[in-house]
Amino acid sequence: MNIHEYQAKDILKRYGVKIQEGIVANTPDEAVEAAKTLTAQTGTGWHVIKAQIHAGGRGKGGGVKLAKNLDEVRQRATDIIGMQLITPQTGPEGKKVHKVLVAQDVYYPGASETKEFYVSILLDRANGQNVIITSTEGGMDIEEVAEHTPEKIFREWVDPTVGLQGFQARKIAFNLGLSGQAFKEMVSFITALYKAYDATDSSQFEINPALKTSDDKIIAVDGKVNLDDNALYRHPDLAALRDLNEEDPLEVEAGESNLNYVKLDGNVGCMVNGAGLAMATMDMIKLSGGEPANFLDVGGGANAQTVEAGFRIILKDPNVKAILINIFGGIVRCDRVATGVVEAYKAIGTINVPIIVRLQGTNAEEGARIIDESGLKVTSAVLLKDAAAKVKEAIASMN
Ligand code: GDP
Ligand code: MN
Repeated sequence: MNIHEYQAKDILKRYGVKIQEGIVANTPDEAVEAAKTLTAQTGTGWHVIKAQIHAGGRGKGGGVKLAKNLDEVRQRATDIIGMQLITPQTGPEGKKVHKVLVAQDVYYPGASETKEFYVSILLDRANGQNVIITSTEGGMDIEEVAEHTPEKIFREWVDPTVGLQGFQARKIAFNLGLSGQAFKEMVSFITALYKAYDATDSSQFEINPALKTSDDKIIAVDGKVNLDDNALYRHPDLAALRDLNEEDPLEVEAGESNLNYVKLDGNVGCMVNGAGLAMATMDMIKLSGGEPANFLDVGGGANAQTVEAGFRIILKDPNVKAILINIFGGIVRCDRVATGVVEAYKAIGTINVPIIVRLQGTNAEEGARIIDESGLKVTSAVLLKDAAAKVKEAIASMN
């Protein structure tokens, strides 16, 4: 589960990670009040107004703006709240901004130069360990750094049963070229950050940039926190941070019916049992000349209700021009699925797109018979090859 920057920073702060202080605001008035409060708390004169959406690259899209006085705070907040922010990570349609974070300016001049670092922590599944990735090239696209100057990226693996060791935190600070007070600050920063990552059951933290200020503090200027969905039951307070505004409404609805659904932008909807078969089915749709409109795994125990819920969700996507149902009857029997399809079809009423159902496995023939005899405009196929040919036909008739 993704959360907003302001929520991520709250969590980091709780574990002792120094952050760029800020206050979230829903309106320009609230933004001005927030700026006044921050000035009282931190002494800052300048503020940054930061769009809160679940996507990075906000700076590039005009979603992070400096404000040098309260009039500018109001102006920037007015511009950003309600805007459709397009960044390299949102897709061309962008994301609507509902809130801004009013933050203290931390790039103030001082005794030494400011310097931006990259710090992330994630699970390295191949090693069964956590890995802390750092770079001297903060504030930029880390993918670019990895491609052009991979020697500027450092990785430190942490055995989760032992935890982060002091020498590892010092090695990271050393790799980043720090010394004196900034070195000590980085060691504390990494130590607290790892503690937060571990304690919250996160699957990813990305702090880009982590800033060395001109007075040698190390603070999180940005904060991307990805919480492990499967561990949220242990953290009801974190689960409550979910922002449905940021999620695809069809995916939210699918989640309520316990369906594994991912919306894509193609024209052939598909409903499959088992993630592997679903991936293979999407390949088949592509090979037949179509584009999958979604990934949908109804799971091993598919019944009439799950099939109906899946149908309804697929049909809500206006791009869907044909539906392919591909079920392998192992635990679930094909005749039961066929009955489910027929019932769902009847319950939903008119469906104006061709539906191809391929049932294979336990009671496949009986399933095909139920569909053929239902009198509904559903085409059944037993072999995958048949199904592919029928999808191809359906696609041809769309154009
Ligand atoms: P992102 O673009 O979504 O990654 O958002 P960030 O939080 O990383 O902010 C983008 C950029 O805004 C940073 O890399 C900084 O260069 C700049 N920025 C962030 N905070 C401040 C600040 O306090 N003062 C100034 N002058 N610039 C800032
Ligand atoms: Mn950033």
